[in-house]
Amino acid sequence: MALIEFDGLCKVYPGSTAPAVDDLKLHVQAGEFITLLGPSGSGKTTTLMLLAGFETPSAGTIRLDGRPIETLPPHQRGMGVVFQSYSLFPHMSVAQNVAFPLSVRKVSAAATREKVAAALAKVHLAHLAERRPQYLSGGQQQRVALARALVFEPRVVLMDEPLSALDKKLREEMQLEIRRLHRELGVTMVFVTHDQSEAMTLSDRVAVFNLGRIEQTASPQQLYDAPANPFVAGFVGDNNMLGGHAEGGPALRLADGSCLHGRAVGSIAAGSPGTLCVRPEHLRVAAAGDDGNRLQATLLDAIHQGDHWRLVVRLQCSQATWFAKLAPGALPRGVAPGQELALAFDREHAWLFAA
Ligand code: ADP
Repeated sequence: MALIEFDGLCKVYPGSTAPAVDDLKLHVQAGEFITLLGPSGSGKTTTLMLLAGFETPSAGTIRLDGRPIETLPPHQRGMGVVFQSYSLFPHMSVAQNVAFPLSVRKVSAAATREKVAAALAKVHLAHLAERRPQYLSGGQQQRVALARALVFEPRVVLMDEPLSALDKKLREEMQLEIRRLHRELGVTMVFVTHDQSEAMTLSDRVAVFNLGRIEQTASPQQLYDAPANPFVAGFVGDNNMLGGHAEGGPALRLADGSCLHGRAVGSIAAGSPGTLCVRPEHLRVAAAGDDGNRLQATLLDAIHQGDHWRLVVRLQCSQATWFAKLAPGALPRGVAPGQELALAFDREHAWLFAA
């Protein structure tokens, strides 16, 4: 049995017609690190707030260990929460902030001292216990928020974009910290982010949100290698797309009459609209005798990014802008913006979806 189960969960905010969360179904296993990933406004925070108990569902159930929890107040759900804004009390020391969830739970003074010291040690902040939050860096403040979420040894920790206020280097450092804590504590973590690389770094599984619904739930690698639809292909990793009509084979007939071969994902009826997706790293500059799919294009730009070239091209067949990622030696000498070139790709690297 899953530790957390969302079943047919819906949330419509008062005054709104479109649901923020629409018929959500998701099972989270004990000890799992699961990330809710999606663009802004796709319903991730609402889902987390429903789980934490700060919002009530319009329909559906949330079960913890098989028991419905929709009517339980937040402090009876046994979940630690970390917000983007840290939400620390400025007039309290670090230790007092971390102790706060224990005082709500009426833990004795001696046990509180012990638990606070242990929680601060876990996030490497024992030496700053007496400081006020305003004298800490952003990263340190976020560690205090983490210690406060962990101090009562919750079974589940919820985090809503906890690292988005930090600069890139610190964010990456904290991602490794969170991974370490997850490994060491074995706690179930539900994490919200709009950053796909953060989701890939942290998660056992990722649920990709779009318009209040989950498009796909899978491991980071599965999402990248086998996206369920063009939305996931475009949100997890870079992706190039072309529209046309499906043919047997499977293939996509383009508006200019040419045909590209791919791998069908799901069933696509011949003659119906289809979308072909190719990742930039699966494109190459076509060599003489190349028997892959071929696209004529105009080079708009070639950018050297250290370990690879990033080409920006305009396809002749549709005028769409595509991106290609080439190894440093794979760009033919003398190719310059404004010139024509032929790109090639293999059919096993082209997904064909019903549009
Ligand atoms: P995300 O976390 O993916 O950015 P949210 O869950 O915050 O998405 O929001 C989902 C939708 O619900 C958005 O359209 C947002 O405007 C709306 N929404 C969020 N919170 C409220 C609220 N308190 N009242 C009304 N609408 C809200």
